[in-house]
Amino acid sequence: MKILVAENNENSKEIIELNEEKQRLIKSEARFRDFAEASADWFWESDEQLKINATTGGPAGLSSYSLTDLAEACHSHTSNEMLKTLQEHKRFVDYVVHFTDELGKLAYLRISGKPVFEDDGSFAGYRGVGRDVSEIVALNRKVEFLASHDELTGLPNRSLFRQRLEHAIAKAARTGQQVLLLFFDLDRFKLINDTLGHEAGDQLLIMATKRITEKARATDILCRLGGDEFVMLMEGASPQDGHRLVRDIITAFSTPFEILQQRVYCTTSIGVSVYPDDTQDPQTLVVYADLAMYRAKQNGRNDFEFYTSNLNFIAHQWLDMENGIRHALTENQFFVLFQPQIENDKNQLVGMEALLRWRHPERGLIPPLEFIKIAEQSSLINQIGEWVMDVTCAKIRSWLDKGLNVPRVSVNISARHLRSESLVKMLNSVTDKYGISPQMMCIEITEHALLEEGDTVKKNMRQIKEAGFGISLDDFGMGHSSLLYLKRWAVDEVKIDRSFVDGLVSSAEDRVIVKAIVALGDALGLQLVGEGVENQLQADILSESGCKNVQGYFYSPPIEAKEMEIWLKR
Ligand code: C2E
Ligand code: CA
Ligand code: CA
Repeated sequence: MKILVAENNENSKEIIELNEEKQRLIKSEARFRDFAEASADWFWESDEQLKINATTGGPAGLSSYSLTDLAEACHSHTSNEMLKTLQEHKRFVDYVVHFTDELGKLAYLRISGKPVFEDDGSFAGYRGVGRDVSEIVALNRKVEFLASHDELTGLPNRSLFRQRLEHAIAKAARTGQQVLLLFFDLDRFKLINDTLGHEAGDQLLIMATKRITEKARATDILCRLGGDEFVMLMEGASPQDGHRLVRDIITAFSTPFEILQQRVYCTTSIGVSVYPDDTQDPQTLVVYADLAMYRAKQNGRNDFEFYTSNLNFIAHQWLDMENGIRHALTENQFFVLFQPQIENDKNQLVGMEALLRWRHPERGLIPPLEFIKIAEQSSLINQIGEWVMDVTCAKIRSWLDKGLNVPRVSVNISARHLRSESLVKMLNSVTDKYGISPQMMCIEITEHALLEEGDTVKKNMRQIKEAGFGISLDDFGMGHSSLLYLKRWAVDEVKIDRSFVDGLVSSAEDRVIVKAIVALGDALGLQLVGEGVENQLQADILSESGCKNVQGYFYSPPIEAKEMEIWLKR
């Protein structure tokens, strides 16, 4: 009897426990349901064949797809990458894919998934979350289009030009054809612009565009780099073709332009470089065409010049410059300035950028743009990068030792340096040397550097991030990648290029671009910095657009470390 009671007691205790357990489960399920309902994300599951078989709240029609179908339409990564991940049953995060829903509408989704395994370890399928990102993608497209065309002439702008150039050269490398690059500059354009006014200047640019394109072949691509500078890409053309065209264009410019009832004479100077004869590197090809154009101008304008060995003086200048840079490194002719970055609304220092300077004993101050290009032609740029990093970290250390509050410091790393095997080791060893946490620093790279997509670039980006450094994308809008694509490089910050900030006051289009970039950046969780802010109006427009952080002469030019110390003490 006693035993039975005890058993009964045991049983009811078990029932009570089971009931409590059930209640807990019901509550926890309700809690998760609340979370799920509150979130814009929905859940999906696939079977072991990767067929999607259950979604909660996802877009209608998704369950007739498989993950393999979605991989074919992957935007954030290549299809092969996504397929490989799926085949290896690995987890994936934030893959952007598209599919056509039941109504025939294209929907863009961001999905993350985790493999599920049975108790015996066999693969059972995927389980994950998804979100509709169609609006973000649309916004991204808009930014891309606006950012790639010149408003006045409707020609592709600098960013699209770079894209076209690289494309043309890649193609020529396969087919063995030549590519000609023509660099145009209108003679005395500035004078006409200044004397007759901007409206006349604008008209002249439009008419000049027309005269050039009328003479060109249908396949030639004319782009406006900015101001009165144009470039033309001639694919599959010989130097003789280029010669003929250039002469035709120069003749076409000998007739005066009718502008605001006035006859205006405006000629053009043209420089030509040839791939692969002059160089195989796209950027150098532009530099060479530019140098040849400069030579044509020196020769008295209204003329053209091919980049050839008769421009050897240039090669000499480069060699001199290279030796000069080597010398500058050993003789301490380099120094670093710091430019404050401000949180616009609070007028507070939130960071600074280290900018390199060269004081040449005879030539005086040489701006970085003049020598960095040359340093980038050799591994000299790696030495420069290391030098700047060392000097900057030493300065941070001395500020910290004085008990100052130091905000984040950004350092520029060149595209070429990002391809170096030893970059991350260098970054880590310099921060180590001065006992500085990588979290205090941000590595600035241009989007151009990421287009290489080489394995070393990928590895370096990952390791820079893993080491704890922030990553900032410089000059955004000048290259041609989209923010969506950049997201996969784990970029933390995007710097809106000075050319857009410059246009904020005068160009409605630039205002739209900047607003769209900020909206997209926000949606993707990126920090934004407006660069080259020179006046209150630009600052106000940026702030209204939602761009919090700014940098520019309006707040401060790049300054000596001593002056920066005063900012830090404030
Ligand atoms: P960046 O990285 O885009 O740097 C910003 C440039 O804009 C700096 O020119 C700065 O002085 C200038 N700037 C800042 N605020 C204003 C403004 O309100 N208006 C105008 N018009 N300009 C402004 P800087 O110092 O001559 O540098 C030019 C470029 O040289 C840099 O462009 C960067 O690409 C490169 N550079 C500078 N230092 C380094 C370095 O240490 N390493 C590497 N790899 N590149 C560097
Ligand atoms: Ca920079
Ligand atoms: Ca910049």
